[in-house]
Amino acid sequence: MPELPEVETIARDLDAAVAGAVIARVRVYRGDVLRACTPRTLGARTAGATIERWWRRAKHAVADLSNGERIVISPRFTGAVLVEAAAWTRGRHDYTTLAFSLSDGRAMRYRDVRRLGTVSLLDPAAFAAWEARLGPEPLDPSFTAKAFAARIAPSRSAIKAVLMDQRRIAGIGNIYANEALWRARIGPSRAAHSLTPVERRRLHREVRKVLAEAVAQRGTSFRDYQDPHGGRGGFLASAKVYGRRGQPCARCGARLRATHAIGNRITVWCPRCQR
Ligand SMILES: [Zn+2]
Repeated sequence: MPELPEVETIARDLDAAVAGAVIARVRVYRGDVLRACTPRTLGARTAGATIERWWRRAKHAVADLSNGERIVISPRFTGAVLVEAAAWTRGRHDYTTLAFSLSDGRAMRYRDVRRLGTVSLLDPAAFAAWEARLGPEPLDPSFTAKAFAARIAPSRSAIKAVLMDQRRIAGIGNIYANEALWRARIGPSRAAHSLTPVERRRLHREVRKVLAEAVAQRGTSFRDYQDPHGGRGGFLASAKVYGRRGQPCARCGARLRATHAIGNRITVWCPRCQR
């Protein structure tokens, strides 16, 4: 599932490719991905608007339009936004759910094999309400060790689940929660409030480092993840626990273990050096 580094890559690429372009029209092929709009209102509220910029918030790619509307794409699991250099026509066996034609002749389309992702159209008030439910951005300079501690210290839940709770901290999902906890040598099922101040500072540092490194490598490619040019990310080779259950720990050599006990997602950890 695309997390902060993958969606950051998507948003940066889209911004470089289509910021300044004007939306001519929208074709919706599978309306079930739409939120807060219908095929008709999506067309009516975006046609003629300029895409001012694409940026990322949490695990969502956001397009600011010149008329104040925002398109929010949440590519959960298999969603991808692709930019086509020329006019594009939908073929058979195509997973494109909707396509924006741009006035310069290009197309920007959303493709989603499982259609678990969503495309929302939010006016300023709806956007503010949506954003208010999200925690702070972990790579933001204001996200200090103190701010991190204030977010996690009160919780009795497993630290891994707390890291992935989008209301507490935005953008971290399963891959980077596993990696950050391994780097910080903290057991994923530890109650968040039991972390010592030293452990909290270490985890804060490792969360930020692993996310920044993954952004630099354009994310982790898994299953259907693609950037807007159809390319793939390079972080997987750097992952120390993700996808490595049963392999020796890169730090101590013990066999890595896996469980689905935390939030039904796979947790991989080293039983010897993660305490
Ligand atoms: Zn180990």
